Formats: sequence, structure tokens, C-alpha cells
Amino acid sequence: MTILGQRERLTEYRDATDQIRRRLRVDEVMRHLGWRLSRGRAPKRADCGLCGGKEDVALKDEVWHCHHCKAGGSVFDLVMAVKDCDFQKCAEIFGRPGAS
Ligand SMILES: [Zn+2]
Repeated sequence: MTILGQRERLTEYRDATDQIRRRLRVDEVMRHLGWRLSRGRAPKRADCGLCGGKEDVALKDEVWHCHHCKAGGSVFDLVMAVKDCDFQKCAEIFGRPGAS
């Protein structure tokens, strides 16, 4: 692949991830995945769906972190960890931008 082609692909990727980020919130995706979230605390807490830790997941500014199994990151890292997939598959799960 040419360098120009790579750059175009990267730009395309960045646009797609920006759109997904605007559309999806980490807590909503967690709820969708069946992770129980605690109410009324800051930072928000959730039970970890990966290691089963009770309220071990802290969620702040759209970044999550499990204090028990040390998993964490963005909404993409959440889906990649739960579905055990790479970024490309993760983007497919979220759908192409503008598809919904
Ligand atoms: Zn965990």
C-alpha cells in the first residue's frame, strides 16, 4: 500500500471512530452488555463483566478501568475486551458511520 493510501485509511478510521464516540457512551454500552452500574456515585462504578469484580470498574470522562483485572480504556476497548476481537471487528459491530 502507498503511503498516501495509508494516510487516507487512517483519516477514514479517525472519522469513523469520532462518529462512534459521539454516538455511544461507555455507560450505555456497559448496560447493553449486561454490566450492572451503581447509581449516584462519582466516579461511576460498575460490576466488571470480564472478571466479575463487584463495583471494581470506575468510569469517568468516558474512560473505564477495572481495579481488579486492570482492564480498561475507551468504549472501543470495552467492546474489544468483551467480544474478544480486534479494532476492525469492533468497528463493524458498531456499524459504519451513518448506517443507523
Ligand atoms: Zn475486571
